[in-house]
Amino acid sequence: GVDVDLPVDTRIMTVSNQKGGVGKTTTTVNIAAALASLGAKVLVVDLDPQGNASTALGVVHTAETPSVYDVLIDEFPLADIVQQSPESPRLLCAPSTIHLAGAEIELVSQVAREHRLRSALDDFLASQEEPIHFVIIDCPPSLGLLTINAFAAADEVFIPIQCEYYALEGLSQLLGSVRMIQKHLNPPLHVSTILLTMYDGRTKLAQQVAEEVRSHFADQVLRTVIPRSVRVSEAPSFGQTVIAYDGQSAGAIAYREAAVEITRRGVPAPARTAQQEGAS
Ligand code: ADP
Ligand code: MG
Repeated sequence: GVDVDLPVDTRIMTVSNQKGGVGKTTTTVNIAAALASLGAKVLVVDLDPQGNASTALGVVHTAETPSVYDVLIDEFPLADIVQQSPESPRLLCAPSTIHLAGAEIELVSQVAREHRLRSALDDFLASQEEPIHFVIIDCPPSLGLLTINAFAAADEVFIPIQCEYYALEGLSQLLGSVRMIQKHLNPPLHVSTILLTMYDGRTKLAQQVAEEVRSHFADQVLRTVIPRSVRVSEAPSFGQTVIAYDGQSAGAIAYREAAVEITRRGVPAPARTAQQEGAS
């Protein structure tokens, strides 16, 4: 097996990019499954009303299923809605349902509307007997209250980038949003990880975009890139991640390598952790 050190404190990451179709959901579920395969206990929070992460993790998310909607709007404990993925006892999912589409509007009139997810997560993590090593939040593409809840709950922003034209344009918008959240809601939030997805090394454009992203974000970009692979795109229709669907495929191998890199690199201590340690 691979030798990795699991984090002592839960790492909470939000997978964000204001562009749709860049591989956010695919990256969320496959990195989560890969981390679980390395021995980590991982919670995926599906904040996208489309529920694609819930589907890929094989958890029930019909309209009647208790979901993240109930957590955000009716203050259900997360523990009441979290399900185990059939893939692994270490892979948990807080499912999304179609009701979440309405939450974006309903939240507007609620107290502490930006911090609903954060307080639910705090309670959940404190209630667990076994440590949760990673929480990975899958966001919708828009910067609405759902995404803001994810930014307020996370320490780390994880950005998947598809190597194509305009990749960087969307990025500066996203970095602006992160700065705004840092300033007003969650100072420790920072971009910790960038992953190049759907990479086709045969095209000059992909190489150029990759080079440019690496030159701007030398410390954040993972060495591993995720190749474009049919197995990756097929897996969700079987209610599986590519790790379970075809563990020997190029996509599964790449996601496992990326997960190893994430655990090995660790994370620069965010300001809040330092403060908490100082206070205790
Ligand atoms: P987002 O969540 O950012 O909207 P998705 O993760 O849903 O993006 O991915 C968009 C589409 O690209 C999906 O159809 C997905 O199956 C496909 N896709 C993502 N990553 C890969 C990959 N490495 N190889 C092939 N197809 C991929
Ligand atoms: Mg998605």
